[in-house]
Amino acid sequence: MSLLLTGIGLLATQAGPENSESPGEIADAALVIEDGLLAWIGPAAQAPAADSMVDVGGRCVLPGFVDSHAHLVFAGDRAEEFAARMSGTPYSAGGIRSTVAATRAATDEQLGANLARLAAELHAAGVTTFECKSGYGLDVATEQRSVRLAAEQTSEVSFLGAHVVPAGVDRGDYLDLVCGPMLDACAPHARWVDVFCEQGAFDVAESRAVLRAGMAAGLQPRLHANQLTAGGGVALAVELDAASADHCTHLSAADIDALAGSSTVATLLPLVEFSTRSPYPDARGLLDAGATVALATDCNPGSGYSTSMPLAIALAVREMRMTPAEAVRAATAGGAQALRRDDIGRLAVGLRADLVVLDAPSYLHLAYRPGVPLISGVWIGGKAWGLTGDGLTGGGLAGGG
Ligand SMILES: [Zn+2]
Repeated sequence: MSLLLTGIGLLATQAGPENSESPGEIADAALVIEDGLLAWIGPAAQAPAADSMVDVGGRCVLPGFVDSHAHLVFAGDRAEEFAARMSGTPYSAGGIRSTVAATRAATDEQLGANLARLAAELHAAGVTTFECKSGYGLDVATEQRSVRLAAEQTSEVSFLGAHVVPAGVDRGDYLDLVCGPMLDACAPHARWVDVFCEQGAFDVAESRAVLRAGMAAGLQPRLHANQLTAGGGVALAVELDAASADHCTHLSAADIDALAGSSTVATLLPLVEFSTRSPYPDARGLLDAGATVALATDCNPGSGYSTSMPLAIALAVREMRMTPAEAVRAATAGGAQALRRDDIGRLAVGLRADLVVLDAPSYLHLAYRPGVPLISGVWIGGKAWGLTGDGLTGGGLAGGG
């Protein structure tokens, strides 16, 4: 069965040259989906026949967003910690421990239901692929069930036993556990090994040991780097050819040069800076130096509890001086690169038919209309997500105003 999606006012494929201001954009476009993949892309006037057809009424179509950084396996929330922080209490990594207690106490059913709810929120926000970390168990049993539950929702699972040292546990003993029995229990359910390389969490030598142990177990490295301080996390990411160095809030000139000269993606998480009232990362410096930038949500109950990739895009444009085209590219092709995936994040023949339909004529509206729910259709693997019929909500774009 083939499906023709036509009436696309603007198709922003992200499949054009990296530094182009308008990468691979086609006006008045159409595309054909077959067996979950993109079978044809081009001007609507030249579209081939298909078994069925959906007309999106002049809307803009983009690749589905790729969220390469999310912490979705947890119980409880930290709304009061957030409120306290907004009224003047600084953020520190210690708050993670309250989520750990709630997560350990939760049943598999409770954790799975919360994860499924957040996955649905991400999809509704246009995210068609997401990464999901463990890291709120911090004991072998809870970390293992965290990665197992995450693997039921996504193939991009990260083992983050090295999130913080749990209360009451000797630091050296905990590192031995993370690099030994906990890793052995979690590696079969994970693709990635992650570590929170930061003051108050794990230093560079400890982080290197955790990542090397994970790599020896067949996992690929990525890490939380340079969030709160300009430590050595980014340099470690580049040293180990990590897929991504995430946060990059505090970067030295050497860090920017190292990222630009590597295949490690700088994944920026502006919803965290927003929710912790912190300075935003130097996206302009990274892009101008030639580094690859991704945008991700970092959805988590402590430092930023949002699944809104559109809001992350708006913040990247408003606060980090990325152009709308750069921000959209970072949220799609950039995220795919941060997961070392070449089958998603762009729209081209042969790639997965993961796409979003905006209730807007252009992706510019993602930043121009912050906070407005513009995602009117989400297609994952060629299927309309969460909707029946034509995969669209709301009315057409026709009309006055
Ligand atoms: Zn994180």
